[in-house]
Amino acid sequence: MKALRWHGVKDLRLENIEEPKALKGKVKIKVEWCGICGSDLHEYTAGPIFIPEGAPHPITGEKAPIVMGHEFSGQVVEVGEGVTKVQAGDRVVVEPIYACGECEACRQGKYNLCSTMGFLGLAGGGGGFSEYVAAEEYMVHKIPDNVSYEQGALVEPSAVALHAVRQSKLKVGDRAAVFGTGPIGLLVIEALKASGAAEIYAVELSEQRRKKAEELGAIGLDPSQVDVVKELHERTNGGVDVAYEVTGVPPVLTNAIHSTCLGGEVMIVSIFEREAPIMPNDIVMKERTMKGIIGYRDVFPAVISLMEKGYFPADKLVTKRIKLDEVVTEGFDTLLSEKNQVKILVKAE
Ligand SMILES: [Zn+2]
Ligand SMILES: [Zn+2]
Repeated sequence: MKALRWHGVKDLRLENIEEPKALKGKVKIKVEWCGICGSDLHEYTAGPIFIPEGAPHPITGEKAPIVMGHEFSGQVVEVGEGVTKVQAGDRVVVEPIYACGECEACRQGKYNLCSTMGFLGLAGGGGGFSEYVAAEEYMVHKIPDNVSYEQGALVEPSAVALHAVRQSKLKVGDRAAVFGTGPIGLLVIEALKASGAAEIYAVELSEQRRKKAEELGAIGLDPSQVDVVKELHERTNGGVDVAYEVTGVPPVLTNAIHSTCLGGEVMIVSIFEREAPIMPNDIVMKERTMKGIIGYRDVFPAVISLMEKGYFPADKLVTKRIKLDEVVTEGFDTLLSEKNQVKILVKAE
């Protein structure tokens, strides 16, 4: 079968590899759609980050070259011995987290914080940029008939956004600000809508991305035109209840802190490439809190239910659909050069 494998920085190859088998405990899936993620882009331009190179991943036992793609949907074609959760013909999405099941985080049920956590599609186990994947039974979630395969490919990134909002102190009727409206920031806006936020501000430099946020119902603010902190305090009469930092840019974190109200909260949803200096008194003097989240846990069923109600809409968030043959030129390279792209989906054929 055809599969896109990471061999090195700027070296992704579409190759012919052996089809995976439905071994014991595994679910063989014919992939329908797979989204290109920001972390896939990072692996392409500056990897390896999550991809094991040299030493194999402790859980999968695999190392580069690795099949990529972790945001996918598909149909079950075969199940291995002992599998009871799904059967051939079921429409599914994959929650691509490998966890050891034994470390402190795993014992606490926080499998996304597992000390040897790995992603299917980055750490081994096949990936969605191929025709078939054999995933572990526990990773598979059924999707209902009114959630399309395209929509299903958005469950994984939407789970990050929903986890971020669920872990925050946001309450129905609260006001929130999202700093950075790339794909995850836009999905955070959707999660906030679903959570009953009364006002959602979207702080974004790129006009195209800001427009997209407004299309989803947020109030766009252009930090090159207005003093965002002042503006947010004026509009909300004292600051937003929760600010979500989704840029990974140090000065933006400072703005996010300053934009919150007394006792407000900053949620860090991004990965930072360098240190971000902050003034602790900004937290102390207003009794604010700051918290981080990584990935998600236990939220796939909730995301799927919200999608049945129309949240995280693929028709607004998917900006391009391509085929596996075009994944590098029309997918990865396009995402690097065109800021108006949100999610590019790849059809596995
Ligand atoms: Zn991802
Ligand atoms: Zn663990």
